[in-house]
Amino acid sequence: MPEYTGVKGAVSCVNGTNALHLALILVGVDRDSEVISQPLTFIATANAIVYTGARPIFIDVDRDTLCLSPSKLKQWLQTNVELRASNLKGRNSIVEPQSLNIEPYNRLTGKRISACLPMRTFGHPCRIDEIVEICNQYHIPVVEDAAESLGSYYNNRHTGTFGRIGVLSFNGNKVLTTGGGGMLLFNDEALAKRAKHLSTQAKIPHPWEFSHNEIGYNYRMPNINTALGLAQLERLPAFLKSKRQIAEAYKTFFSTFMLSEFEASISTLTFVKEPSNAQSNYWLNCILLNNKEDRDVFLKYSNENGVMTRPAWTLMNKLPMFNNCQTDELTNAKELEEKIVNIPSSIIK
Ligand SMILES: *Cc1c(COP(=O)(O)O)cnc(C)c1O
Repeated sequence: MPEYTGVKGAVSCVNGTNALHLALILVGVDRDSEVISQPLTFIATANAIVYTGARPIFIDVDRDTLCLSPSKLKQWLQTNVELRASNLKGRNSIVEPQSLNIEPYNRLTGKRISACLPMRTFGHPCRIDEIVEICNQYHIPVVEDAAESLGSYYNNRHTGTFGRIGVLSFNGNKVLTTGGGGMLLFNDEALAKRAKHLSTQAKIPHPWEFSHNEIGYNYRMPNINTALGLAQLERLPAFLKSKRQIAEAYKTFFSTFMLSEFEASISTLTFVKEPSNAQSNYWLNCILLNNKEDRDVFLKYSNENGVMTRPAWTLMNKLPMFNNCQTDELTNAKELEEKIVNIPSSIIK
């Protein structure tokens, strides 16, 4: 996987969710801190944040990428965050702050912002270069949730390789599967070594002694899943090619589709294409309807006629566990939530 994605090191895990949990621990997220993410995502992103004891902050997405918006992020940081001298007292020993001297604090809550966790919605790359640049200015480490975007590139660079750590998922519904599995991607070899240590109960390597030097996790991917993954990896180029051909076929179909069946009720229908400067794996194909009413007509019609379609995930900030989290105005996310429909996206034509 390091060769495929172009990183220096990778560590496999039981699944993508615990890979995210471990990644957040590795960049120093702790229970007194807050992590910035997006409201339009799968629940695993937000759950991984709360496993550390931190709270999520949800910032809006861009309309074209469906991913965390760098301009909204910048705006939010400018209004809400100030850089202060670090307070390392009482901090967990495994914490390694990006800067030893300066850290970002939320003016409203007084909490440290310990990471930014952008996701690649449906496999579409986000403006990750801008996100990393802004976060660097604020001393915020970036962990990339690239769980959906294996085989997606931004400016010819693989997703999940721009931040401190990238996370992939090999769940049954992803482009490549190991039954269940996940992986952490690193450009920092020391951090990769540390990830391996923590994912294997923090056991001190020794031929016979069993000793551990910190609290670790049993997050290692079992061998049987790894074997499955190696076989799948050989087929990955074919999977990606097939997904692209399906997306191309959808693109052509929706550009000429006359909506004859429901012309009276549905006005527009747009197929979501990969953003500029990016190559998407088209993991989950997506169309945008004009509004919630049109979306519901489309969902009902397609499902009643044997084609499984579904709406976007409910926004994270609306769920009971997260409805007291800080957000920005979320204009785009709220609109997209009402318009998105995912259409069949198998790798088999
Ligand atoms: C699939 C997925 C994950 C990880 O899921 P696992 O099933 O635990 O491998 C994380 N984030 C997003 C956005 C996902 O789609």
